[in-house]
Amino acid sequence: MPLKDYKEKRDFGSTTEPGSGKKPSSSAGGKDLVFVVQKHYASHLHYDFRLELDGVLKSWAVPKGPSLDPSEKHLAVMVEDHPYDYKDFSGIIPEGNYGAGKVEIWDEGTYHSLNAEESEGSREEIRAGLKKGHVTIIMDGEKLNGEFALIRLKDAKAKNWLLIKKDDKYAVRGWKIDQDKDPGDIKKN
Ligand code: MN
Repeated sequence: MPLKDYKEKRDFGSTTEPGSGKKPSSSAGGKDLVFVVQKHYASHLHYDFRLELDGVLKSWAVPKGPSLDPSEKHLAVMVEDHPYDYKDFSGIIPEGNYGAGKVEIWDEGTYHSLNAEESEGSREEIRAGLKKGHVTIIMDGEKLNGEFALIRLKDAKAKNWLLIKKDDKYAVRGWKIDQDKDPGDIKKN
């Protein structure tokens, strides 16, 4: 989805969100791809899960948020691409604007695809995965670590995906996002 959709929904004279600025992706320099998860206190609380790809942030709104419990399959609704600079955004989207409410950065870090550690191979694999409807990534964040899958639901609108933690050493059964104490300690076990 092009950034046009992002721009059309927003009045940049009113919201403090980043404009349409399309910066060259950091991955152009061969650096790691980045991700961010923003906790968004909009009319309905949700978590925005964003993966850098080709200069933009591929984005999903996850009502229940990501989970470290591999038995949890959480709906992730694909939304419009966001500008790369959105990865640093936190603050208040003023009343009357699209997505009005507070946005805070819940987690951030880097990621790569399942089979490629470097960014070029990762980008290719992620692009293919997005087409296919099955993206597998390895995350390196403060809260989210290890393997996650995004799987597009077949019998639903194309925008509906599931976000699922793989049962690896970073998985935590029974983990609840609102008891989100310090997963930073858990991951060192
Ligand atoms: Mn949102």
